[in-house]
Amino acid sequence: MRSVTSPSRTARSRSSRRLAGVGKTIDVAGLYVTPGLIDLHAHVYTGTGERNSYAGDNSVAPDGFTFRVGVTTVADAGGSGWRNFEDFKDRIIDRSRTRVLAFLNIVGNGMRGGKFESDQGDMDAKAAAAMALKHKGTIIGIKTAHYTGPEWTPVEHAVEAGTAADIPVMVDFGNNHPDTRPLADLLTKKLRPGDIYTHMYSGLRQEQDPVTKGPSKGFIEGRARGIYFDTGTGGGSFKFSLAIPMIKQGFKPDSISTDLHVDSMNGATKDILNVASKFMAIGLTLQEVVADMTAHPAHEIKHDELGNLSVGSVADVAVLSLQKGRYGFTDMVNTKVDGTQKLVAELTLKDGKIVYDLNGLESLAWDAPQGDISQDKRWTSWPRPVPRPSDGVTLH
Ligand SMILES: [Zn+2]
Repeated sequence: MRSVTSPSRTARSRSSRRLAGVGKTIDVAGLYVTPGLIDLHAHVYTGTGERNSYAGDNSVAPDGFTFRVGVTTVADAGGSGWRNFEDFKDRIIDRSRTRVLAFLNIVGNGMRGGKFESDQGDMDAKAAAAMALKHKGTIIGIKTAHYTGPEWTPVEHAVEAGTAADIPVMVDFGNNHPDTRPLADLLTKKLRPGDIYTHMYSGLRQEQDPVTKGPSKGFIEGRARGIYFDTGTGGGSFKFSLAIPMIKQGFKPDSISTDLHVDSMNGATKDILNVASKFMAIGLTLQEVVADMTAHPAHEIKHDELGNLSVGSVADVAVLSLQKGRYGFTDMVNTKVDGTQKLVAELTLKDGKIVYDLNGLESLAWDAPQGDISQDKRWTSWPRPVPRPSDGVTLH
């Protein structure tokens, strides 16, 4: 087994790691064992029946899209605001096997569409902070997004709420207004160290220096004062023409997230391992992409108990293979980079239980002796008990 432990960023070979409640040993020789992945920016507030809405049909159900790519924790990025967060919690958070966290939208109605998201009258910092404090630990940040106007109101109110609830703000900076709200001012004056700028390689809002093609001055100064930069590649937020020169000049992501929704999952983004493989094709190492999906995002949202494999931490684990072949990776303007390797999730454990097993690593051969199983409730009851039968697992 090779173990990629993100905090120390070292790849070790031939080590083994015991998980709590051991009941079974699985051979994972030749595979990479990492903490369960964290997708810091996704949209999972589905099921409301609302059309054309990220608090509805544009979102995906977390369990259908997480474990199969090694993700055990997903943060919904602003689908709900203080008015509908508890509906989101009841509908999705409380009944998902994936750990679902939330950036609360500064707009009370959340991401229900343009007429809601640009309504300054619904950006109530006190109500947002109160809801965040009521659900401390689950609401891990405040989000502002998709704002079309020239005012600073959404950012200012989001920071006010984030300060009151002691959580970071994640910014999708909306429409570009270089004269009235320049990106450099956002990153050097308006946001606090520890706040998060998502869609970093979109090129939609002065991210790139027009001359050097590297990061803009605002990006460089923002990083120097502690702003985090997140990929949120989504449907229209990632271009190779920014990412490649910026990474060459050393401006790499702090966290790799998908901005997963019904369009991006079928577009250039696809899923978090496709995004990570894409970044490896343009210069990031395996250790870097793993850290950007584990310890780094955990730290950004002040959940350092996640995203690592230390003794006593949450037993969320991903076992990944690095497959070799010919792969193509695309971006929002449908340009392409070829790659020779791609990460694939082989096995995912959530809280010590196997929740996904691509190739039956845990399974017995069909004709192996296993006693009389005809009366075993694990196989004869319907619906099948969840989670999977093993109580705990040792990987070696
Ligand atoms: Zn988004």
